[in-house]
Amino acid sequence: MTGTKPYRVVIVGGGTAGWLLACVLAAKCPQLSITLVEAPEIPTIGVGEGTWPTMRATLASIGIAETEFMLACDAAFKQGSRFDGWVTGAADDHYLHPFTLPPAVGTASLLGAWAASAPEAAFAEVMTAQAIACASNLAPRQRGMPDYAGALNYAYHFDAGKFAALLARHACTRLGVVHVAGEVVGTTAAENGDVAAVALRDGRSLAAEIFVDCTGQAGLLIAGHCKSAWIDRSDVSFNDRALAVQVPVLPGSPVASQTIGTAHRAGWLWDIALPTRRGIGCVYSSRFLNDDEADAILRQHVAANVPGADVAALSPRRLSFATGHREHFWSGNVVAVGLSAGFIEPLEASAIVLIELSARALAEALPASAETMAIHADRFNAQFRYRWDRIVEFLKLHYVLSRRTEPYWQAQRDPATIPLRLADNLRLWQERPPSATDLPQQDELFPAASQHYILYGMGFPLPSRCQADAAALAALADLRTRARRLAAGLPDNRSYLAALAAQAA
Ligand SMILES: Cc1cc2nc3c(=O)[nH]c(=O)nc-3n(C[C@H](O)[C@H](O)[C@H](O)COP(=O)(O)OP(=O)(O)OC[C@H]3O[C@@H](n4cnc5c(N)ncnc54)[C@H](O)[C@@H]3O)c2cc1C
Repeated sequence: MTGTKPYRVVIVGGGTAGWLLACVLAAKCPQLSITLVEAPEIPTIGVGEGTWPTMRATLASIGIAETEFMLACDAAFKQGSRFDGWVTGAADDHYLHPFTLPPAVGTASLLGAWAASAPEAAFAEVMTAQAIACASNLAPRQRGMPDYAGALNYAYHFDAGKFAALLARHACTRLGVVHVAGEVVGTTAAENGDVAAVALRDGRSLAAEIFVDCTGQAGLLIAGHCKSAWIDRSDVSFNDRALAVQVPVLPGSPVASQTIGTAHRAGWLWDIALPTRRGIGCVYSSRFLNDDEADAILRQHVAANVPGADVAALSPRRLSFATGHREHFWSGNVVAVGLSAGFIEPLEASAIVLIELSARALAEALPASAETMAIHADRFNAQFRYRWDRIVEFLKLHYVLSRRTEPYWQAQRDPATIPLRLADNLRLWQERPPSATDLPQQDELFPAASQHYILYGMGFPLPSRCQADAAALAALADLRTRARRLAAGLPDNRSYLAALAAQAA
């Protein structure tokens, strides 16, 4: 790989994973020769419309302006996730996992200050001004701010098909990525067992030093050529089906600032607001609910929550998924990114962020020689295995703390389905709140603050050692002032998006 020959990367698959990876690699490593091959007749999954705040840095790093992105993808702001009906199922049962962190004072004193000053208020309402922005459908920024800057931390909701199309245009016209339309039907092996080239149905072949498998659930190279084992996580995470619909909204209707996840008797529904439509889906476990029952739950939700929706006209898409991930995400000279690497229900929208992290890791660690390939692979595998384990635990936390009584929810609390580390954490967290000791990596996906939002949002008891102090009480008082100021100064989402569209027209 050293020397004068071009360093070639072939990406197989043109969904969100393939095109995002192509853009990040091309922008960060301009010396690479990057080809993306996709089979036009094999559709992309077409869902995946909630992101993380990391998306702002990713888009900036590949050279896409925020306005261009938002208009091209019908994007709206996402400031976190609200969970309705997860604890008891009662009408007033909800908690928020916002993107903005609580004040940076000691957690124990902050919890003590909450108990001392506003015990009746929800945890997130006391800890971040983002709660009022979410409750009032406010944008996290003003129009005059520089691209990707916000008064509050934020991400996006967008149209997945339009996003992949924007990335494809950007990759090919501005970043020099070569696009090949064709179906990969086989591989040629090198002497050491690596992939030397992929073979296309029309007889062409594409050789490279590294291949990235972005073929979605097919896992064409990582499973087919590399035989990387599948680690099944369905013993912990039960949901394996989704029904998805897109529902037009009335002009001028409010645009929510957060993904809303509403629990039902055997799973939950997502609700993602875009300027012109809501993406709504019913996620469920086929062990506890059949497709017709799920369809009825979905229609009921739409009827109750989307004014003017023509429920009878809805024709939901059915999706099945296996929960788990590869044993090795990087095997030989093949790296799996996106659904080919693994999948778990989209409760915290953790899939696209893993694509972003994989792309960054790969851009920073492209092996300079064949000798170091295995070392890079080992490190990448260890890092992503760590991330998967933490995701599985964090999603399970929402279920373990529920007090719902339907058979599905009871089964979710069966100790045999709770990962050991999560069970240990829950014991520890009765004595002291989650801290960086429990989640020590610099770029943890769900740092201690995320655990706090779920635990205390769901009513987990405060450890007895949590005592208010002056600094924590002052921090919460400052926050109340800031929240009032922001609420008065931020535009609502609908006005922001309308002004954005008017500017472009
Ligand atoms: C119900 C549901 C909801 C989701 N919600 C979210 C969310 O809110 N947030 C989030 O982050 N993620 C979410 N996800 C995950 C998200 O959709 C995916 O991570 C993301 O779309 C990336 O998909 P992909 O590119 O890996 O695969 P795909 O979109 O399936 O793309 C696969 C590509 O591979 C190509 N291909 C396949 N076989 C071949 C072949 N033989 N030769 C050539 N090309 C081939 C196809 O043509 C296609 O271009 C959700 C997923 C599901 C199932």
